[in-house]
Formats: sequence, C-alpha cells, structure tokens
Amino acid sequence: MNLLDGKEVSTKIKEDIKRETAELTEKLGRKPHLVAILVGNDGGSETYVASKMRNCEQVGFDSTNLRYDVDITEEELLNKIKEINADESIDGLIVQLPLPKHIDPDKVTEAIDYRKDVDGFHPINLGRMQRNLPCFIPATPYGIMLMLEHYGIDTAGKKAVIVGRSNIVGSPMSILLARNSNPGNCTVTLTHSRTKDLKDEVLQGDIVVAAIGKKNFVTADMVKEGAIVIDVGINRESSTETKSGFKLYGDVDFENVSPKSSWITPVPGGVGLMTIIGLLKNTLEAAKGTVYPKA
Ligand code: NDP
Repeated sequence: MNLLDGKEVSTKIKEDIKRETAELTEKLGRKPHLVAILVGNDGGSETYVASKMRNCEQVGFDSTNLRYDVDITEEELLNKIKEINADESIDGLIVQLPLPKHIDPDKVTEAIDYRKDVDGFHPINLGRMQRNLPCFIPATPYGIMLMLEHYGIDTAGKKAVIVGRSNIVGSPMSILLARNSNPGNCTVTLTHSRTKDLKDEVLQGDIVVAAIGKKNFVTADMVKEGAIVIDVGINRESSTETKSGFKLYGDVDFENVSPKSSWITPVPGGVGLMTIIGLLKNTLEAAKGTVYPKA
C-alpha cells in the first residue's frame, strides 16, 4: 500500500503558488483577492472557511470573510453577490454551502459571475469542463486530479467507480476521469443511493472514489485487490481525545481497505488538503486572467 499523501503534495504545490503569487503581485500592484461568504453558524462550515482564509494568507493572497446572520434574505445575499461581481479588486468569490433552507443554492451559484466562480459550481464552468475548455474546475475534483498527477498514476483505460453523484464532488469527478486527458481516459461508473448491487459495482473499480458522507461506508469486501482508493468523505464525530473536541472519519474503512489497495488517501491528510489547493489554484488563475481574460 502506498499513501496518496495530501500533506506532501499540498505543501509542494503551495510553494509553487506562493512563488507565482509574489511575481503576480509585483506585476499587478496588488495581491490576488478571494472573498468567502458564510451564512449562519454551522460548525463545519466555519472550520472550512477559516482554513481557506488561513491558506490564502499563507500563499500571499488577500482574503475577506463576509459573515451574515442565518436570517439574511435571499435578495440581500444576491445583492451582495452583485456588488462583489462588480468590484474589480476581487478576483474570486465563494459562498460556503450548505445555505439555510430559505435560500436557493442554485440561484446563489448562478448569481456569481462565472469569471469569479473559483469553486467552479456555475453551470458555465461545469459545461466548459465537460467540453474540455478552459474553466474553473470544482476544487475537490481538481485537487484529486492534481494528486493523481503528482504521483504519476496512469489512469488511462482503468475502470473508475465513483460512489456519490453530488454536483460538487461525484458528478464532476466522473466527467474529469472520463475526459480525454491525463489523468483521465477512464471508463467511469457513477453510482448513488439508487444503484443496485453497489458492492458488485465497486468491486469492479481499479479506481474507487468515495464521496458519500457516511463513516467507513466502503469496506474491505467491496474493494478489489490493488485498487486505487480516494476517500473524499469528511465525517465529524465528537471526541474527548482531541483538542478540537471532534475527530474526522472518511467514507472508507481505512484500516481494513488499505492493505488491499495499491494507493489510498488518508482522512484527515488526504483529499481535504487538496481541495484547498484546488481553490488556491483557481483563485490565482482568476487573478492572472488566464482562464477568462480580464476585461
Ligand atoms: P452529498 O450528500 O451531496 O452527496 C452524497 C452522495 O452519496 C449522493 O449522491 C447520494 O446518492 C450518495 N449516497 C448516499 N448514501 C448512499 C448509499 N447508501 N449508497 C450509495 N450512494 C449513497 O455529499 P457531498 O458530495 O457534498 O459530500 C460527500 C462527502 O464528502 C461528505 O462527507 C462531505 O463532507 C465530504 N466532502 C469533502 C470534501 C473535501 O474537501 N475532502 C469536499 C466536499 C465534500 P443520491 O444522489 O441518490 O442521494
């Protein structure tokens, strides 16, 4: 078993981003700037946004966290997004999900200027990704692709089985792995809660991507000998063992699956760190104007 070590890869790529950011800042006369909107007080979301902001500072970006009460109206939020879209000093905008029930996440996603959509959730970016055109790729799948690339894993011709079809992880992952690119060129099966005989499907996978949101869902009997296993899941449980008061678990039973796998990501220390890298790279690209030229 070899570890797909998010810490090692993310540290290396962050150094590259930091160097490029310093050059770009000199050229533009300002730093790349990411704004993150956070609505309400969800513990997980607060942790993720804080980590995104911290990482921005570490590579030399400006970062602004705009926090709103849980009772902000949809209209107020959409107006705020419009303001940010028009602000030329801001390169990237993300709205942390989930949003409160009275706000339609699709409306919010589509309100963000696709040229600032560094989460890559806007339909224009998703459509362009499908067509293999320059775009912002959703951060988690982007990070996973960078990790496969870093370790020189040859994915061509392999059968990839993805468990979970969300708009932010499973579905874009299926597109990227099926694309005619490297990494990519896989034969992809996208599974979900209505899939029949899920275990048989997962057992076919030379590559298994687990993005379900259920602790230790993928067990050793579901995984083929020698498979490459990517665990996207982040399941928080309270714990007295840690300083933070909670412990993180993946969607894969790491202890029993890792001896069977050729490569595997740990949780924590795997995909989560790479998601941050995906976001940082998209923000840098947005500031450079390489995906969408600046007006
Ligand atoms: P969603 O809840 O949006 O999607 C979960 C998917 O899993 C759905 O497609 C659902 O199927 C499927 N699913 C649920 N139960 C089963 C089952 N019994 N059998 C088969 N499929 C099932 O989750 P996300 O994609 O947003 O996130 C998944 C996990 O990844 C979570 O733990 C989340 O915290 C984590 N995550 C981690 C990130 C990171 O940076 N590491 C980033 C984003 C998410 P259906 O569509 O039929 O309902």
